[in-house]
Amino acid sequence: MTRASTRLSLAACCLLAAGCAQPDPDEELVEQRFLAMGTWVDLTFVSPDSDASNAALRDVESELRRFERDFYPWADGELATLNSAIAEGREMSVSVEMAGLLTQARELSSASGGLFEPGLGKLVELWGFHMPALEARQPPSAQAIQTTLEDSGRIDALVIDGRSVRSQRRGLMLDLGGIAKGAAIDWLLARLETHGIDSALVNAGGDLAVTGQPLGGRPWRVGIRDPRADGLLGIIELADGEAAFTSGDYERFFEHDGQHLHHLLDPGTGRPVAHTRAVTVVGTDPARADAAATALFVAGPDRWRTIASRIGIDAVLRVDASGEIELTPAMAARLEVADADHDIIMGSGQETTP
Ligand code: ADP
Ligand code: MG
Repeated sequence: MTRASTRLSLAACCLLAAGCAQPDPDEELVEQRFLAMGTWVDLTFVSPDSDASNAALRDVESELRRFERDFYPWADGELATLNSAIAEGREMSVSVEMAGLLTQARELSSASGGLFEPGLGKLVELWGFHMPALEARQPPSAQAIQTTLEDSGRIDALVIDGRSVRSQRRGLMLDLGGIAKGAAIDWLLARLETHGIDSALVNAGGDLAVTGQPLGGRPWRVGIRDPRADGLLGIIELADGEAAFTSGDYERFFEHDGQHLHHLLDPGTGRPVAHTRAVTVVGTDPARADAAATALFVAGPDRWRTIASRIGIDAVLRVDASGEIELTPAMAARLEVADADHDIIMGSGQETTP
């Protein structure tokens, strides 16, 4: 993203906002798109003035670069360094953020009965889901899956003492892909607040969280994507501090022998599950919502409701393999049937590689 394109887009947004009824004439609606964390990150916020907008956008861009470097195991940042230390049997002193996220990831893994398992890095690598291109991939052999699962260990092998982290198993390779986007969105919203921006929406390829309200005082409205067709299953409103996260089988996958093989792996079998197309959850902690969507996707028809309540998530929409939709009462109470008149489409599925 060049500085020039940021300015251009800001100017366009200011013009747009000028047509709206605004309580404060200096306030502006800013929209900006970044390519980061393997997806489009769309930022929409109400800013007190253009100095705050410009400073916030610069800050957000550098934070995004930091997140994708430090919380992605196949980059050359902090998580990769930690994985190397684990493989060599060393202890490492990590950042406060990393220690906090690892602690939360371990708690959520335990609450999910191990269905959310951030120790699956080697399995993700074995399937090749860390690679940008998935065309012409072959699934790994049953033997290779078995060996990888046996060698890997689980996140509960981590010993976290303040900022110092080590693993009781050298085979553990951490992949925070099922939770890091949630944490990043949470941190970005907090960062925007330091610039005086307390009405914002951060949408990372359909995973999103909001603060405040858009200009005009209505709540943020987001659409839930149909996992098999263009269009939406429904629309939900999000109140200040809420997040909506989706895990879908359409995001990263390849086809092999008539099987749809996607990036959400059952830690028990080491394979993609076949019973679910998508799970959307709403919660107040984006990292928890992110991990919950992954866990409930893997959980399947018999377990998802129990696991949701153990994780502390009450609003869930699940689309099963036949396209049937299941809702918790809390999700049913807030879901509107989709129509064409919506503000934001969630789960646009614009998966790209930066
Ligand atoms: P996305 O990031 O595509 O929106 P998720 O939040 O569900 O989707 O995260 C999927 C990523 O999480 C995978 O690409 C992989 O890196 C990792 N992953 C896959 N299966 C699991 C699992 N059972 N538990 C934790 N992480 C997983
Ligand atoms: Mg997730």
